[in-house]
Amino acid sequence: MTSSIRLGRLFGIEVGFNWSLIFIFALVTWTLAVDLLPADAPGYAAGVYWVVGAVGGVLFYVCLLAHEFSHALVARAHGVKVAGITLWLFGGVSRLEGEPASARAEALIAGVGPLTSFGVAAVALVIALATQGSALISDLLSWLTFVNVMLGLFNLVPAFPLDGGRLLSSLLWWRSGSRQRGVHNAVRVGRVFAYLMIAAGALELFLGQVASGIWIAFIGWFLLSAGASEEAGSTIRTFLRSVPVSAAMTSPVVTIPDWVTVQTFLESVAPNHSFTTYPVHDASGRLTGVVRLSDLVRMPAPERAEKHLKDVARPIDAVPTTNPREDLSALIQRIGADLEQRVLVFDGGALVGIVSPADVARVLTVRQTLGPRAF
Ligand SMILES: [Zn+2]
Repeated sequence: MTSSIRLGRLFGIEVGFNWSLIFIFALVTWTLAVDLLPADAPGYAAGVYWVVGAVGGVLFYVCLLAHEFSHALVARAHGVKVAGITLWLFGGVSRLEGEPASARAEALIAGVGPLTSFGVAAVALVIALATQGSALISDLLSWLTFVNVMLGLFNLVPAFPLDGGRLLSSLLWWRSGSRQRGVHNAVRVGRVFAYLMIAAGALELFLGQVASGIWIAFIGWFLLSAGASEEAGSTIRTFLRSVPVSAAMTSPVVTIPDWVTVQTFLESVAPNHSFTTYPVHDASGRLTGVVRLSDLVRMPAPERAEKHLKDVARPIDAVPTTNPREDLSALIQRIGADLEQRVLVFDGGALVGIVSPADVARVLTVRQTLGPRAF
């Protein structure tokens, strides 16, 4: 879901979409144009249904955006930074950096989404009733009413990453006083709902409703894995909170001239060091990229003699950076899976270290052995 195409900025929040969204757009347009609209408002040319269907597809995403923006704006009002909003297959995701400070803030951030969808549904219903003279427009808005009610209800299912899961988690957090325990118990409840959905999907499949059966089971499976990763993420963040990057990073860093061939590097540089990642620099000493040992050894032997490090390095602009004082949990939340590509640590413009997944795993192991401090 990280690979998204930028759409633009609204209220200072970056909006992007994932390619999977086009699939749903096509499905929505097609369903409206071929099935729903001709049945409810007959007598128009096929082209008219397609145009109105496409408008419906766009409005569908406008409604999703309204839902996500309500999360993002309330989060920002409660001091949680918002990295951006991504629209994808299942709807939208607001990428929040950091966690709400209180159970109340978490409940408000989660709860405003379904409320917004119900609000949009109410507005669509009013317009649908007011435009009853035009069957086509009224029908489109009735459909939009239905979609938003469903969106609100579906999001209230108490399973991560749905709003209902966060609402439940904030309630349990408020009752127990521990966010970690709140997430843990909410994930357990969510797992029951996920299994119920998988069972319902299997039952539908058995009864011959193949498409909806697969779809429901798939969503159940998705909720199951999302719950597991939510809990893992929450545990990791708890253990890594208030651990600075400087405690995990590998330091000092050895940088290599980027005009050296891969073969020379593997034969005469790599054996003298124990690092797995090396930043590379040009003749002027400017950093140009990062190479990983694992990528280089995988190169076919004939290519090694020809290719220079600068040809195979990950460009420096694409490498995430941090400073020694950043909180590890905040870093991981900020860059996510990009940690796999290594993170360069700069202090006052100077490269002072590198953070790899192995570094984080080492800190995590130590902290887990010691046991967490106060949650
Ligand atoms: Zn939501």
